[in-house]
Amino acid sequence: MLAEYQALNDRLARVAAPLRLKNAALCPRTRRDPGFLLHKLDDYPDALRPMAEEFLGLKDGGLFIRAVRPDTSAAKARLEPGDQILAVNTNPISGDPLMESYNRAVLRNGFESVLSKVKIRTKAGREFVARIRPDTACDIPSTVVFSQDINGHTNGREVLITSALMRSVPDDTNLALVIAHEMAHVIGDHMRQTPTQALELEADRMALVLMARAGYDIDAAVSFWKSAAHPHEGGSSDDNSHPTTQARYKNFQKELKRIKKVPDVTLLTF
Ligand SMILES: [Zn+2]
Repeated sequence: MLAEYQALNDRLARVAAPLRLKNAALCPRTRRDPGFLLHKLDDYPDALRPMAEEFLGLKDGGLFIRAVRPDTSAAKARLEPGDQILAVNTNPISGDPLMESYNRAVLRNGFESVLSKVKIRTKAGREFVARIRPDTACDIPSTVVFSQDINGHTNGREVLITSALMRSVPDDTNLALVIAHEMAHVIGDHMRQTPTQALELEADRMALVLMARAGYDIDAAVSFWKSAAHPHEGGSSDDNSHPTTQARYKNFQKELKRIKKVPDVTLLTF
């Protein structure tokens, strides 16, 4: 159960990373991304905490690295899952609530600056200071929600992908399309508007732009999409806010053509 939770989180973070990092210019809000993900003991359900302590090295009251993205200053500084963050610059990370302490430290010339010094304690107890140069990324996090429903949705701020959806979409390119579609709803501020088929088609078009800029194979994404189940439409069949699969496919094809005429993906906009 814990291993599965980790695997789903890691996969979602890995697939979403290029979508966030390569699309900062198109996002309404950006954040400085230090190249690592964090977790703490109380992120886990009570029943899993003993395992989280034993296998992940988590301790009550501490903030720990959960994953490190390759090709980042964090990876070069040899940060590893299980390392504890003791301080960001000179701001200690402690107290309750822990994340508030961390967020304050980060805002106080932490990752908002070009270079931050992060004090680390490894699992073996060694302490060192890592120099972190954060990247600018889209501030739309993706989160795994444990549920039997096959569903991807957004609350207007973050992308929520169910565990059942992730299992139903074994291909990463196809998962990226689901994430990109939900990111598009956030970027387009669609949640403030009445759901319509036009908004859904707009989110599909925007998703292909986000995908192309992130380096995903958009032809493959659309052809996988065509042959797969369409979880996002899995809501009640009586609401007509979702266009038919055929209408979406046509819309995708049109956008693929437009995107391919743009010589450089970094020039692509919605
Ligand atoms: Zn949608």
